[in-house]
Amino acid sequence: METRELVPLALALFVALLAGWLLAMASGAGGRGRHRELRDRERADTEKILGRLRRQLEDAENRSRDQLEVFVVLPSLLRQLFDATSQRQIAPLALKLLDQIFQPAQSAFFFYHPERRTLSLAVGQGLPGGVKPGLEIGLGEGRLGHAAESRRAMDEADFRNLTPSVRRHLEMTAMRDVEAEVVAPVEDGQELVGLLCMAAARSRRGDEKRLLRMVAELTGLATGYVKRLTRTQDDAERDGLTGVYNKRYFENRLAHEIHEAEERNQTVGLLMLDIDHFKNYNDRNGHLAGDTVLKELGLILGSSVRREDVVARSGGEEFVLVYPRAGKETTLRIAENLRRAVEAHDFRHGEGQPLGRVTISGGVACFPEDARSALDLQRVADRALYEAKAAGRNRIVGADKGYLT
Ligand code: GH3
Ligand code: MG
Ligand code: MG
Repeated sequence: METRELVPLALALFVALLAGWLLAMASGAGGRGRHRELRDRERADTEKILGRLRRQLEDAENRSRDQLEVFVVLPSLLRQLFDATSQRQIAPLALKLLDQIFQPAQSAFFFYHPERRTLSLAVGQGLPGGVKPGLEIGLGEGRLGHAAESRRAMDEADFRNLTPSVRRHLEMTAMRDVEAEVVAPVEDGQELVGLLCMAAARSRRGDEKRLLRMVAELTGLATGYVKRLTRTQDDAERDGLTGVYNKRYFENRLAHEIHEAEERNQTVGLLMLDIDHFKNYNDRNGHLAGDTVLKELGLILGSSVRREDVVARSGGEEFVLVYPRAGKETTLRIAENLRRAVEAHDFRHGEGQPLGRVTISGGVACFPEDARSALDLQRVADRALYEAKAAGRNRIVGADKGYLT
């Protein structure tokens, strides 16, 4: 318990003792039978004071108990907050923490989108039925936007202290369905991540701003932690030069996709690509220029795929693409489009290549049509790629039935 809490408690106790003594004196005086009316009034007044003090004393005790409870639940909530593996998980946990501390009638978490300069509702509690996640408000608009822009935790008193013109502006631009009595920005270092707000706290009244700021700070720390963790994991799965996935990730994903396809009776398309005459390119233009070609090719491949597809560099100048749920025809069509896109791209020094441009050859194989295991599927696609090279390069070849026998 803080000294700040003990002082009013001690004071209340002292006054209670004083009042008790006054009451005793008043009863004593009554024994003599004089000033009866006066004595009754004094007695009633004293009892009133005593009652008030008793309530104050109880209040002070409850506040201290509340404060202690926060420290009891805090470690488990913090653990959950820092166990989160995505920013999306953090938002509801922050509201849970608010609920434990304040039991507010309303609370909400907004994410900040720097590219649009807006805050969008991620999760809310106690909001009117029609209010859905995704609702947006601009930076500087309403109480929410103002606190986010000024990077300040603010409560009713702070909002009242704003100049009349700013207050009018905030009222006119407010998000109607979200009550923002207390608001605190969530930051990761210097970066604005989002915003927490709440209204009508049932416990810890008077301490809202201080404690909400604390929750916002913890939420910001957890967000930064998750972001750095995800980045590290992502780095371990990526190829350093091109930024596409690496071979290890590709192998795990291919095995996973084949397993899923097996369970659900679906197909998986695989495309293996290799740059044509790349040794020639390096010999003529140097290794650094060759690296630039690899990077550009990585970008072309990366921007050609859907979210669920995988692009990886499997080694040197070889890339692999996995297309979950794609059949043979689809994969062949996608592969042919890619081959054309690469042929049409103006790579530097392309004219010095044997085919007059930087080109790729590709082999396509499909689960379960061409092979039933991840390893066999790669073997078969590799064989198709070899055929494409042998047939003159700058072409796509689909695996043949006889490849595995
Ligand atoms: P093909 O059309 O038969 O594929 O001929 P190729 O010259 O592309 O094939 P080869 O396997 O003979 O040569 C591949 C070359 O790719 C050799 C190497 O110099 C180059 N290479 C592999 N990895 C890298 C890399 O990371 N950066 C650069 N710049 N070149 C690389
Ligand atoms: Mg090669
Ligand atoms: Mg090659």
